[in-house]
Amino acid sequence: MKNAYVKRVWEYVQAKNANEPEYLQAVQEVLTTLEPVVDQMPELEPNAILERMVEPERVIMFRVPWMDDAGNYHVNRGYRVQFNSAIGPYKGGLRFSKEVNLSVLKFLGFEQVLKNSLTTLPMGGGKGGSDFDPHGKSDKEVMRFCQSFMTELYRHIGADVDVPAGDKNVGGREIGYMFGQYKRIRDEYTGVFTGKGLTFGGSLIRTEATGYGLIYFAQEMLKKVGDNFKGKVCVVSGSGNVATYAAQKLIQLGAKVVTLSDSNGYIYDADGITQEKLDWVKELKGVRRGRISEYAKKFPSSKYFEGKKVWEVKCDCAFPCATQNELLGSDAKTLLSNGVKLVAEGANMPSDLDAVNAFLDAKILYAPGKASNAGGVATSGLEMSQNSERLSWSSEEVDEKLHSIMVNIHNNAYDTAIKFGATDGKFVNYVAGANIAGFVKVATAMIAQGLV
Ligand code: GLU
Repeated sequence: MKNAYVKRVWEYVQAKNANEPEYLQAVQEVLTTLEPVVDQMPELEPNAILERMVEPERVIMFRVPWMDDAGNYHVNRGYRVQFNSAIGPYKGGLRFSKEVNLSVLKFLGFEQVLKNSLTTLPMGGGKGGSDFDPHGKSDKEVMRFCQSFMTELYRHIGADVDVPAGDKNVGGREIGYMFGQYKRIRDEYTGVFTGKGLTFGGSLIRTEATGYGLIYFAQEMLKKVGDNFKGKVCVVSGSGNVATYAAQKLIQLGAKVVTLSDSNGYIYDADGITQEKLDWVKELKGVRRGRISEYAKKFPSSKYFEGKKVWEVKCDCAFPCATQNELLGSDAKTLLSNGVKLVAEGANMPSDLDAVNAFLDAKILYAPGKASNAGGVATSGLEMSQNSERLSWSSEEVDEKLHSIMVNIHNNAYDTAIKFGATDGKFVNYVAGANIAGFVKVATAMIAQGLV
C-alpha cells in the first residue's frame, strides 16, 4: 500500500482486530484496491470514511439455549453484525455452522456492504448466525434452536431496520421457523426475512438466484472477449443451492459440468452432469441431507475423490461455490497450469489472497464473489419490493430483473476498472472495479449524512 491514509487505516485495523484473520483478509483485499479512488477523493480522509467503513455500526452477541430430543440442554452463541446502513436497512444472511465466529461474520458483513451497494438496490449490509450446525439434528431440534435464536434476535430486526436471509446451512426450513417465531412474538406480518417459502411471501427464483446470477455475470465476461459457454468444461465446487443452480444454468447454456463437492470430497463425472442428475443431487442434499459421495454409487460414469478438491480437474472455467478460503494459492497454480480461462466466485471470499493475486497476475477472467454472487441478495431486494407491494411477480419477471441487475453489476465493475486505470492491455481487473464501484456509492451517502 502506498497511499498514507489507506496505510494508516490498515495499520489501525490490524492492531484492533489481531485475532480476526478472515476479517483482516477481506479488509486487506479491499483497501489495496481502493488506493486510486482515495487519491482522487480528498474528502474521504477529513470525513473519516475509511475508519467508519471498517467499524461495524453495531455487533449483537447472545446466548442461544435449546433442548435436544432427548431432553438435554445445549447452549450456542448467536450473532448479528449490523455493519453499515448508509444506503438502506441492514441486509444479509444468517449462517449456522461450527466455523462461525466474529471474524467470519465481520468479513461477511464487510463484503455484504459493498456487494449490496453493487446491486443498485437500497440495501445496507449485515450478517449473522451461530456456531450451531444443523447437520445431524432432527427437524424438531432445528425448530427449537431457530425459535430460541429468534427469541433474542427479533428485537434487533424489522422490515425497515434489518432484514436477514439464508446463508450456509440456513435454507427454507430454518427461515420458515425463524419467520414464524418473529411473527408470533411481534404479532406482525412483514417482509422481515427474505428467502421465505413461496406460500408465505417468498419470491420465485430466490432459490436459484445466486447460482443463475453467477453464470449471467460470467456470461457477460465471456461476451466482452467474444466467447461463450458452448462446449466449455466447467468445474463447480459445493453442492448447495449456489452450486446446483450455477451448474443448471451452465448446462442450459451448453457447457459441460464435471464436478460437485462437499466438505468431505468431490465427484468427477466424465460424461458431464445432466439436468436429471442435478435433480437427484438437489433431493440428496436438500431433502435427504446426504453426502455427495452417494453420487458415485448412483451414477457409474462418475468417481468420488475423498478429501480432495475439485481444482485438480482440468477445465476451462472454475466456479468456487462452497465456502471461504476453499481455493488456495497452490490450487490457483494448478488451475492455471491446466489452462483455466475463467474463474467466477459463487461463494464469499473462496479464494485466498495468494489465489486472487495468481489469477490477477495471469490476467485471466476473474470475478470476485462480491460482484458475481450478488444475484442472491439482489433477488432478496426484489422479494422485499414484492412484500412491500403485497404482490408476487412471475418467474419470468424476476429472472429478467435478476439478469439485468447482473449485466449492470458486470458493466459497472468493468467500466469502473477502466475509469480508475485498473487494466493492463486487454486485461480488466474486476476486483478493483467492483470494490471501487461498491465503495464510492456508500462513501458518498455517508458523507451526505454527516458524522453518524
Ligand atoms: N447470504 C447471501 C449472500 O451472501 C444472501 C443474503 C441475502 O439474501 O440477504 O449474499
